[in-house]
Amino acid sequence: MIDPITLARENIQKLTAYTSARDEFSGEAKVFLDANENPFGELNRYPDPYQNELKQLLAEISNVKPSQLFVGNGSDEIIDLVFRIFCNPGKDKALTFSPTYGMYQVSADINDVELLTCPLDDQFEIDLDTAFKTLNDTSIKLILICSPNNPTGNRLNKDRIIELLENFNGIVLVDEAYGEFDEDQNLDELISEYGNLIISKTMSKAWGLAGARVGYALTNSSILELLNKVKPPYNVSTLNQVAAIKAIRKKQEFEKRKAIILSERERMIKELTSLVNVISIFPSNANFLLVAFEDALSTYDYLLSKGIVVRNRDKLVKNCLRLTIGTETENNQLIQALKSMKS
Ligand SMILES: *Cc1c(COP(=O)(O)O)cnc(C)c1O
Repeated sequence: MIDPITLARENIQKLTAYTSARDEFSGEAKVFLDANENPFGELNRYPDPYQNELKQLLAEISNVKPSQLFVGNGSDEIIDLVFRIFCNPGKDKALTFSPTYGMYQVSADINDVELLTCPLDDQFEIDLDTAFKTLNDTSIKLILICSPNNPTGNRLNKDRIIELLENFNGIVLVDEAYGEFDEDQNLDELISEYGNLIISKTMSKAWGLAGARVGYALTNSSILELLNKVKPPYNVSTLNQVAAIKAIRKKQEFEKRKAIILSERERMIKELTSLVNVISIFPSNANFLLVAFEDALSTYDYLLSKGIVVRNRDKLVKNCLRLTIGTETENNQLIQALKSMKS
């Protein structure tokens, strides 16, 4: 198995992490005069830097141990940390599969890392031949895979992800932001098998907590050590942690809402299929649909004129709009608007 520590940038391998006041003692404490906090107020104490209570609950919902988890200020923080830990700015490269989530490019640009892209095939699956040809470039240190993929909506084939894990001597980050909507694929157990795998998840989508900014990663202890060294000591605020803890404690609510979104997705597929200006609807394992329209741009503008905002993805997939599944009422408004559009 790969020792992931050796894949990290040299300065990160040598880095001594900041130790917070709370890291420096063990045992029961009653009086906290160590962190220059204010003794008054409600949010006067620094948050738990390792989010232990939250990790207990996250472990239950993801079938791993708390010691296999990292929590970030949204999964966007995790993506950025992974670039910073494993890619030397101005030197190393990363690889992803297009069309995909736009933050990979932004994060790569911020970190001055060239992001190479291999196009997904006509089923929006990874083309392994092209991928391995590209991977002949040994300056590639990181592969970013989004599954279910944004904006196409499909889950990527597990065997091909495993092929990459087995044959690539670098880090593979699988972004499962929409994983909870996809009951048929679970990669969680692979983290014990592949030392180069990081799976990132988020509470922003299926858990309905985009406003709280809580993302988390499943990975092995060596990679966790690196992530914990590089993260800001108090990267997840107390408010975020409490919001996430409350949401997980009300798991029935999550299940109920997810079931509604999934049944609305199926209803929307039927509704959209019957519309004349819809050319095709791509299969989705997420809470959105990628839809090809007769004329995506004028459809987009028309919807906007009706006060309905969807995501124009025409530049990524010709003539496509990405439609998020909303409430029944919102979805009906969208369908009504599309029906009222003259083609
Ligand atoms: C929405 C989304 C995220 C979520 O990022 P957060 O920072 O956790 O809100 C991550 N990856 C993909 C592909 C997404 O679509």
